[in-house]
Amino acid sequence: MSDPSIDISTSPLVLKFGGTSVRDAGAMRRVVAIVAGEIALGRSAPGPRAPMVVVTSACAGVTDMLLECARGCGGERPEEALALVATLRERHLGILHDLDPDDDHEGRADLRTMLDEIERLVRGVAMLGELTPRTTDLFASYGERLSSLLLTAAFRAAGFRAALADSREFIITDDTFIRAAPLMAEIDRRAHRMVDPLMAEHDVVVAQGFIGSTIDGITTTIGRGGGDYSGALIGAALGAREIQIWTDVSGILTADPRLVPNARVVPEVTFTEARELAYFGAKVIHPDTILPAVARNIPVVIRNSMAPADPGTRIMPDGTPIPSGIHSITMKKGMTALKLSPRDPRDGSAPVERALSLFAEHGVPLYCGLLAESRGLAITQSSAFNDILLAAVESTCRVTVDEEIALLCMTGAALHDVPAALSEPLAALDGITVALVAAGTSEHIMLIGVPESRANEALSAVHRRLFEEVTV
Ligand code: ASP
Ligand code: MG
Repeated sequence: MSDPSIDISTSPLVLKFGGTSVRDAGAMRRVVAIVAGEIALGRSAPGPRAPMVVVTSACAGVTDMLLECARGCGGERPEEALALVATLRERHLGILHDLDPDDDHEGRADLRTMLDEIERLVRGVAMLGELTPRTTDLFASYGERLSSLLLTAAFRAAGFRAALADSREFIITDDTFIRAAPLMAEIDRRAHRMVDPLMAEHDVVVAQGFIGSTIDGITTTIGRGGGDYSGALIGAALGAREIQIWTDVSGILTADPRLVPNARVVPEVTFTEARELAYFGAKVIHPDTILPAVARNIPVVIRNSMAPADPGTRIMPDGTPIPSGIHSITMKKGMTALKLSPRDPRDGSAPVERALSLFAEHGVPLYCGLLAESRGLAITQSSAFNDILLAAVESTCRVTVDEEIALLCMTGAALHDVPAALSEPLAALDGITVALVAAGTSEHIMLIGVPESRANEALSAVHRRLFEEVTV
């Protein structure tokens, strides 16, 4: 596999794999095949080959088990904690055996050492009878440390020159254990220093997501589900050409496939669009986790490790020219609409404007607030809406409440330049009552409120019109 043409002066490709993508030996072999595919792609392109950096999560379910283990020994249930360690031992040694049956494998000794450490930690905490956040982080960190060891072994078994990096040496954080904040300047200072020499000598460098350390070298974690964030931090610090987030879906879809079976992958969105999508219910990634990459104009691509041939969705820096028009539709059910008009038509104190501002004062999210003439419309989440807010609004406004509204949210690019983007969804809703239409707050978004009882039908109709009908 050795390839002298790796050039660390070119930007690396950073590939992040989630827990399900490394759940067992078969999954890890798929990761190896994916990286091999990216290396082959790089070889076929002109110029020197980019280094590959893989950031991994713990094997699926392992972080939960480690935290359970921590609680067990902290809460005077050391036997349960030790039983969990035994399960973890069996699972990880089993994966290593699957990957490479050679019993003298150097990885096996490292793995045993690490598992013995966890066991000693359990006994130590049980003896003290106290579990601190700092120790909780130490427990949790073993998930990624174990999986990265295994993944390195998987690469080596396939003939790759693979290096294992310890993310704690360069993902430097503050000491807010359990939810530590990365210190980007320090990460920038260290990442190249630690990772460049490894990239120069190896086909692939494997590092851990989720974990880091304080400036004094104490292990921290950056919050549950932090693997994507780590991928973005590492990619940003190394100046990656691209960060790939490999997960179990093929990217951002035109609609929720459980409701719209013909939904398809959106090839490209901008970061702001991804953010608005997430706000209105899309769940693929949390856009804020990729902010470090966005800040440095690095594209982030969502890919499916079960369907590696799928091109995925590219999340591009804002301002990147991408096709205009609607890209996807999300739907939020369980919304309440309030129609507002002044109680006293001669009330000169702008009661409807003031009513709209009451939402924030009461901590109730306002998904959409419209004001036209002296009347208004507010859309909020039914579960957050409450009688105290209603009473406050009713003191100056006449209110009609409709608790069964769903919001269709069309997101895309340059919607204001594409009149059809605004007219087509409405045309598709022929026969369904429209409770509200809102567009123009940004070029990325248009909202339509419909009765909840017809929400699925409305979503299907708009999707059909926008994405399934052949247009000329
Ligand atoms: N292993 C960590 C967790 O389960 C981080 C991650 O997978 O993103 O929360
Ligand atoms: Mg996980």
